[in-house]
Amino acid sequence: MRLVLLGPPGVGKGTQGRRLASDHGWALISTGEMLREAVARGTALGVEAQKRMDAGLLVPDEVMIGLVRDRTCQPDAEMGFVLDGFPRTVGQADALDSMLQGRGQRLDAVVGLAAPEDELVRRLGARRECPACKRAYNLESAPPKDGRHCDDHPQVEVVQRADDAEATIRRRLEVYRRETAPLVDYYRGQGRLREVPGLGPVEEVYRTLSVALEC
Ligand code: AMP
Repeated sequence: MRLVLLGPPGVGKGTQGRRLASDHGWALISTGEMLREAVARGTALGVEAQKRMDAGLLVPDEVMIGLVRDRTCQPDAEMGFVLDGFPRTVGQADALDSMLQGRGQRLDAVVGLAAPEDELVRRLGARRECPACKRAYNLESAPPKDGRHCDDHPQVEVVQRADDAEATIRRRLEVYRRETAPLVDYYRGQGRLREVPGLGPVEEVYRTLSVALEC
């Protein structure tokens, strides 16, 4: 299954994508995570991307399309993949279709996750992650067992992402509305969108998502 998870920051794409990928043996391809790794390694891509990410802006289409073109060719993506955070513009969506078409493949599903904006702001402000394994926590709804350290890495404190600061959250939501929300209509208009509410307990969203995907 080749799948796109579409939706605003904080709606749960990462959490749900991670679970789907691990339950089905698909590769989880998170473009935000790939960029954060490049930043941590200090590569040329990382240095360039960091400025835009810290400002809550998008990294240029041609950079992202190149990254996804390479990543989707890796052996672990052969059985299928879940794209989290890509495409984010109509240009990226068009490029994805033609890159898959060029390989005799296609997207099997696009899932649109949605939640009200005040809920997204709350979730993003309370979001934390383990720097070692990237496991996601939420200080309000899904805190680590001891409130501070990753459940799987008891020595490692969970941290807030640099771009989850309040002002950057607002900017990212604005950028989502302007650049990415049109993709909802784009895929809906082509009859390819399966819409799933992103509100409620993680388990419940996952069940609804699995039903929508018939998997
Ligand atoms: P995310 O982890 O998906 O919230 O992404 C974090 C940041 O990485 C975004 O705010 C963008 O700056 C950048 N980014 C991730 N994916 C893309 C993409 N497909 N196109 C452009 N920028 C992206």
